[in-house]
Amino acid sequence: MGVVTKIISLSFIALGTLIVITYGGAQDPVISFIGMFAGLMLWSIGLALMGAGRTTQVKPPPPTITEIRCDNPDCDFKEIRDFEPGDYILRPMEAHCPKCQGSLTIYGIYVVLEQEEKSTI
Ligand SMILES: [Zn+2]
Repeated sequence: MGVVTKIISLSFIALGTLIVITYGGAQDPVISFIGMFAGLMLWSIGLALMGAGRTTQVKPPPPTITEIRCDNPDCDFKEIRDFEPGDYILRPMEAHCPKCQGSLTIYGIYVVLEQEEKSTI
């Protein structure tokens, strides 16, 4: 996504430069002014697109998940839910296992990265 935005913004800047070179030096002051103005407009659009591309890369926060497991070694209950503030590894949960009524403990907190998901599949 970033590459396409970069190409578009660079082509705006290149087109703006071309217009300034072609019409900026025209003998008619009106054509010269319009050429310079149009060139500057294209430059600002190109630079704005470059800036927009940078901010979108910073935006998405990685989703975090919490893995809860039953303490009973004979029970295989396991729950994955969204991370909540206050969660930490080996934190005993207030809730009880729906299978055996045993105690539940947080066994893992993971940051889900898109790249990791792809490699595991
Ligand atoms: Zn259990």
